[in-house]
Amino acid sequence: MTASFEWNSRKQKITEIMSETLSDLREAQSEERGYLLTRNASFAENFDNLINGITSRETLLEQLVRDNPLQYKRSMALQVAVSQRILTIKQLIDLAREGRFDEARTEVLSGRGRVDMGLLVQQINEIQETEHELLLERIATLKAHAAWNQQLVIGGTLIIILLVGGLLLLVMRGIRNPIRMILLAMSDFGNGDLKVRVNGLMGCTEFDMLAHGYNTMADRLEDAVEAQEASDRKLVAANAELTHNSNVLKNRGQSLELLGEMAHRLQAARTEQELSAIVCAFVPRVIPGMNGALYAHNNARNLLLRIAHWGNISDEHESLTPDSCWALRLGQSHSVSPHSNDVVCSHVKKDVTAYHCEPLLASGEVVGLFYLQGIVAEDNRFLLSALIENIASALVNQKLQRDLREQTIRDPLTGLYNRRYMEEMLGFEIARSRRENTTFGIIIGDIDHFKKVNDDFGHDAGDVVLCSVAAEIQNSFRSNDIVCRLGGEEFLIISAVDSLDTLVMHTERLRTALATLELHHGGKKLRQITMSFGIAFWRKSTFTNGAAIIKAADEALYRAKSEGRDRIIVAT
Ligand code: GH3
Ligand code: MG
Ligand code: MG
Repeated sequence: MTASFEWNSRKQKITEIMSETLSDLREAQSEERGYLLTRNASFAENFDNLINGITSRETLLEQLVRDNPLQYKRSMALQVAVSQRILTIKQLIDLAREGRFDEARTEVLSGRGRVDMGLLVQQINEIQETEHELLLERIATLKAHAAWNQQLVIGGTLIIILLVGGLLLLVMRGIRNPIRMILLAMSDFGNGDLKVRVNGLMGCTEFDMLAHGYNTMADRLEDAVEAQEASDRKLVAANAELTHNSNVLKNRGQSLELLGEMAHRLQAARTEQELSAIVCAFVPRVIPGMNGALYAHNNARNLLLRIAHWGNISDEHESLTPDSCWALRLGQSHSVSPHSNDVVCSHVKKDVTAYHCEPLLASGEVVGLFYLQGIVAEDNRFLLSALIENIASALVNQKLQRDLREQTIRDPLTGLYNRRYMEEMLGFEIARSRRENTTFGIIIGDIDHFKKVNDDFGHDAGDVVLCSVAAEIQNSFRSNDIVCRLGGEEFLIISAVDSLDTLVMHTERLRTALATLELHHGGKKLRQITMSFGIAFWRKSTFTNGAAIIKAADEALYRAKSEGRDRIIVAT
């Protein structure tokens, strides 16, 4: 707009200069004509001022059109034409001033001045038209510029709007995505995924800081939750352990009570059968779910005899040698399980994969073996120890009782039963005979001339003879026959036989065996031993009591002695 205004102003100034110049020239021409017509010089008195004005405007015009070569050239031509016109007018005025009015008038009448003015006007018009065109052209250019500028403004505005919109979108996305990620992470965390974290690099410092802050908080929270869970687990474990321990204690209490009851009964047990019954009744209750057996050591046979068993174990060995059990050989408990990969005792059946052998010891000596099938739980180990202790001491007790009893019923020299026991057994036998209508016999044997053995070889040699004869008698009768030493060199046998003949036959077998018995003592061969026998056979209502049958046998013996010894006499 400013440019347009400037161009308009320039055009106006040029037009103004042209008009004024043309006007001044016409004024100068008028003054010259007036002067010539009137011959009055006052008509031309303003001529110089007019010429000066015209000259001063020439410079101004020159400056105004300097930027346009064509207009400049025209302005120069105009200047020349103006100068020429001024010069012509001045010459006429000068002619007039010289009084040469006719010459001057002739010159005017020649019409050159009109032609020059016409050319001059034409030049001025050209300049003005060109200026007008230039103005229009520039206005058009300006308008075009303005339109372009307007388009630019509109386009720029649109671009700015798009840019701002895009920027806003980017900003929105830049905010939404990180917030969505953080919210998602928080939601997952809240749902229990404690490992979820926000990617720390979000492309924005603030959100990076927010993510970092959230992650740190999540780390701490996770640690706290884990610590809490660990603490809870410990608490649950401690509680379970407490409950377990409480149950263990309760079970232990019950088991100890059972053990106490068992020990109490074991102390009162008089026979091995009673001991076995107690063990069978209590052991499965103290250590439930395990089959087992109790073996007692038999000194005489160096065997372990099964005296009790519980559970499904009846196919196990009824006796075993100490060598067949690692527990007995090592003097300590021996356990075998599928994982232990230990040596298996030879007394254990092939299909048993896990078992436990516990030697029962007293003063370092084996008194028995406690055998369990399966694995004894750690919690039951103390019960097992207590069981072992109780049973071992019960077995020792039994053995002591048995030994004591043996001592009271056995003859210490020969090991045969003594008279007291014989009398007791005789009472039982008579009762059984009466009850079951059975028969039995009594044999009383006496070594012939035994005194001579003592006399000839000494008392010790006599003892040797007594022991050898005792063993021979024992061998000659069945194991369930009662063989006792009545005293001195006299022996009594209670033999449960069906017939007297059998009894005599057994006795005769003994008598002949003694004849072949070779005895030595102190490197010396002892004299041949013979015995005399008196036999009484018990039938229903033959004898009234034990004393009567013994008396009868004794009398028969007496007869055997008196009839020459080394013979058998049956009481009649
Ligand atoms: P008979 O043929 O008439 O039976 O004659 P005997 O010599 O066997 O009988 P007697 O009763 O005269 O002698 C028994 C001897 O046995 C007397 C006693 O010193 C001896 N005697 C008794 N008990 C023992 C003992 O435990 N050991 C030893 N060595 N001798 C004993
Ligand atoms: Mg005798
Ligand atoms: Mg005698």
